[in-house]
Amino acid sequence: MNQLILHLGSNQGLRHHQLLRARQLLRTRIGPEIRCSSCYETSAWGLEDQAPFLNIALLLDSPLSALEVLGVCQAIENEMGRQRSVHWGPRNIDIDIIAYNDAVIQTPRLTLPHPHLQNRRFVLVPLAEMLPNWQHPVLHKTASELLEECPDEGAVVRV
Ligand code: ATP
Ligand code: CA
Ligand code: CA
Repeated sequence: MNQLILHLGSNQGLRHHQLLRARQLLRTRIGPEIRCSSCYETSAWGLEDQAPFLNIALLLDSPLSALEVLGVCQAIENEMGRQRSVHWGPRNIDIDIIAYNDAVIQTPRLTLPHPHLQNRRFVLVPLAEMLPNWQHPVLHKTASELLEECPDEGAVVRV
């Protein structure tokens, strides 16, 4: 079995409902959910003039390869009606792969660990709650250490 960390976000429509729906579909198609973080309301990052997000982190077990997991995540986003218009713009659901075992991959389709995770409080706060001792395979720091060192000042509030 492979262990993977996903990060889910929603800032359009019924945000809680969409996160729950995505979790259900992920459990069915990717594998059992081992842990889930609390839910956090977070201010938008990158393109700040938009509604706040709800974010959660998940830990799942899966027999699928990393590319298969990406395919499932994108299929779920499409089925849930995600519109791809503005980069970093509003979306009803976004599912990012934060890490897949200790894989280090850099291709246009898939970068692992997720290239921005260490720069984003809205990723690091749920991750450090769920798996404080998770070790970044390139930076060789734990989730808690990355959070302590992260310069991002975006609001992240547990809801
Ligand atoms: P960001 O990746 O900065 O959070 P985003 O989530 O808004 O931005 P998307 O439009 O959802 O970006 O995805 C753009 C592309 O990123 C996807 O087509 C996918 O192939 C690629 N990608 C690369 N690495 C990953 C990853 N670790 N998880 C999810 N998608 C990835
Ligand atoms: Ca994202
Ligand atoms: Ca994404």
